[in-house]
Amino acid sequence: MPAIAFTASALAALAADGKLGYKDTPIIPGTEWHVHDGDRPQPRVVTPGGSFSQGAKPPSDATVLFDGTNLDQWAVGANKPAPWKIENGYMEVVPKSGSIRTKERFADFQLHLEFATPGKVEGNSQGRGNSGVLFNGIYEVQVLDSYQNPTYPDGQAGALYGQTPPLANASKPPGEWQSYDIIFESPRWDADGKLVKKAAVTVIHNGVILHHRKELAGNTPHRQNGNYSKPHDPEVFIQLQDHNNPTRFRNIWLRSIGEYDKP
Ligand code: MG
Repeated sequence: MPAIAFTASALAALAADGKLGYKDTPIIPGTEWHVHDGDRPQPRVVTPGGSFSQGAKPPSDATVLFDGTNLDQWAVGANKPAPWKIENGYMEVVPKSGSIRTKERFADFQLHLEFATPGKVEGNSQGRGNSGVLFNGIYEVQVLDSYQNPTYPDGQAGALYGQTPPLANASKPPGEWQSYDIIFESPRWDADGKLVKKAAVTVIHNGVILHHRKELAGNTPHRQNGNYSKPHDPEVFIQLQDHNNPTRFRNIWLRSIGEYDKP
């Protein structure tokens, strides 16, 4: 049964002040939509069934990236200590302190993490509970408070930013813990710098699938189409975005898969 995503007044208010999206951006190849098009259909709202994978203990071969006690695995840039706050088993973005990223790099992997957008609701559209999970700092799976907070669909929670809206809006209310289970496959280039495999991502949000091995069209910039013009190693770092909102994260672990799996 289709659900009404947002109240008409909420959509009208955003559209009126121009914040729902953009029409002065390029068309996304293969679609009829502009990058960040506010008229692109809003994914249907699905109420998650429960806590799904929250609290999932890392499997025995997992790399634990955050167990709630320290940020030893994380840095700002290559090696500046990660300055985010830790309390009660979670980390919290300290606005304007910088995005943090893993010191270690991984190629193809299964990633589990939990997040909570700020319980104190401030701002709207892209200004409310914005963070992100970025691979190599350039391929973003959006983190946003998308609970009764319309924005352009390719920028809502779980979107492949600027490219592909999620298949559903499975967001929980602000302040509640939510889970992402993400499978990421790195892109590959040959020795001549020719792209031979695009990045692909599968995302399950609170037990609801948002992307099923969806290929990325490239990196995920703001207001532009992405591309693969800059070859990089298959091993990528994982970055959590400081977008000036105090989003929280906890229970982050990862399992390498595929050809780079090391027994
Ligand atoms: Mg973001």
